[in-house]
Amino acid sequence: MDGFAGSILRINLTTGKASVEPLDPKLVRDYLGGRGFAARILYDEIPAGADPLGPDNRVVLAPGPLSGTLVPAAGKITFASKSPATGGWGDSSMGGHLAAEIRYAGYDVIILEGAAAKPSYLYIKNDRVEIRDASALWGKGAIQAERALKDELGEEFQIATIGQAGENRVVYACVSHDFGRQAGRTGIGAVLGSKNVKAIAVRGTKSIPLADTAGTVEIGKGMYRAVFAAPNLKEWQNYGTGSVPPWANSIGAFPTRNFQSGFIEGNERFAGEVMRSEIVINDKACFSCPMACGKYSRTKTDKYDAYVEGPEYETTALIGGNCALLSIKDVAYGNYLCDEYGLDTISTGVAIGFAMECFEKGIITEEDTDGIAAKFGSMDAFAALAKKIAFREGIGDLLAQGVRKASKKIGQGTERFAIQVKGLEWSGYESRGAPANMLAYITSDVGSHHNRAWAITTDIAMGRDLVEGKAQKVIDLQHIRPAFDLLGVCRLLWVEIDFDKEWYPKVLKAVTGLQYGWDEINLVSERVWNLTRLFWMKHNPGFGRKDDWPPARFYEEPIPDGPTAGRLITKQRLNQLLDDYYALRGWDTQGHPTPRKLAQLGL
Ligand code: SF4
Repeated sequence: MDGFAGSILRINLTTGKASVEPLDPKLVRDYLGGRGFAARILYDEIPAGADPLGPDNRVVLAPGPLSGTLVPAAGKITFASKSPATGGWGDSSMGGHLAAEIRYAGYDVIILEGAAAKPSYLYIKNDRVEIRDASALWGKGAIQAERALKDELGEEFQIATIGQAGENRVVYACVSHDFGRQAGRTGIGAVLGSKNVKAIAVRGTKSIPLADTAGTVEIGKGMYRAVFAAPNLKEWQNYGTGSVPPWANSIGAFPTRNFQSGFIEGNERFAGEVMRSEIVINDKACFSCPMACGKYSRTKTDKYDAYVEGPEYETTALIGGNCALLSIKDVAYGNYLCDEYGLDTISTGVAIGFAMECFEKGIITEEDTDGIAAKFGSMDAFAALAKKIAFREGIGDLLAQGVRKASKKIGQGTERFAIQVKGLEWSGYESRGAPANMLAYITSDVGSHHNRAWAITTDIAMGRDLVEGKAQKVIDLQHIRPAFDLLGVCRLLWVEIDFDKEWYPKVLKAVTGLQYGWDEINLVSERVWNLTRLFWMKHNPGFGRKDDWPPARFYEEPIPDGPTAGRLITKQRLNQLLDDYYALRGWDTQGHPTPRKLAQLGL
């Protein structure tokens, strides 16, 4: 099968057996790769109602057909599982070099099932697959564990690890790789922890069979030339996402003090130029990426000295804005702590921002926090709370369950400002003044997350008060953006430097022989979108419209200040957005795909 190794590696952690299964050509035709493969496999294999942290859950690692090829930014891999954060579909896309290495080892998919009896790591070198003892790694931070394994196995191994948060099953624990890249969202680090898997180490020396080698090289060269010709490439190479915080603040979309506002005074301290001059020491790229948006930094004050990849926009928004830490050095240090503990920076920033608002309102006190003055703007409080979360100590044990569960346990009306949808903490855009973005986040198939559709610019282009016509735009984005996670390439070239997406069908044909235009790719993406919806329904009886709903803050509290002061989104407008969205998707009014739609998609 051109473009694929034709092999699925299945590792049963309970029995200790590894087996190789053939890749079904129909799976390729219908789902293409990456997140598509993961959705089909996990929908079929995880029994309804399985405990996300039990042995019946599975973790799928799935690169795409372009991963590891000579295509710019072809280093993306999907990690997927039933999410312990939400109880529904969970996946997260990760950059770095693991995707390519798995392909070179000869696998299109890796499936982990069962649970190991003791701390273990997976050693995969081409056909040699072993479950090895990881007791010496258990208890180490994610970055330290990666360093230790590289020292033991060699730099050529590509390694994914979890930190203490994953070991302790914090529901938003991430998977870490390449000293600062993460599969950050939906808690897959906790699922690996529940399976006693500390790390996955992969080395591959095989080739990817191409349908048209000369064509792939020629198209690949053309793609690189196009990237290097992009007028704003240099800005992205210099600053990465560093230009976004001031812009988000200027449009009133920068999450501030637990999403109380969309604007914070002093935001200019997060600007890319400041970051570059104060902390950045080098640029860092994922596999085959000429954009190198990653920034490797050293953050040093009289209190700390740490190296970290980042911070990128979402981290700055949720640690810097949401917890009001108005210093790029503090944000970078918070980023470092999360990376080492193996915590998703988005969910951690929301969880600590939530705790800080509870503290500000007197709902929790120093008696509840073991003496931590959990005030907005306190680096000491952020660091102490992050540690408590990772080790599940005191109030950290509550926050480790995510803000949905934490607010239910605390009560006292805190659910209204527990900023999450479906149990996943909200990404870094305050959206009361952005109906399309609001719709994108409440309908995202993992819970509120920007990866699926990010529509603030749609709101600005079409008018921020307008609701009509936005559902179709969101649906289009929800198909195009996740399509990059089918192919195994980074979407940022298309999103940020106007890279022509018509390159991808051409190179897909050269690599695989599959003649798919964007209509066909988007159809696959729509199939996957409906399948993940079915996953939610399979595992959550009664799932539907009520789950596509934001916290009350967004429809009951107007934004107090900044460029979007006075805005909120009424329940009536939320319902109008959902009505439009469901109708256009071919779903019923409860948000369930109709038999007709499923038949159209071959589901
Ligand atoms: Fe990685 Fe950034 Fe390149 Fe995307 S643009 S592949 S995130 S370095």
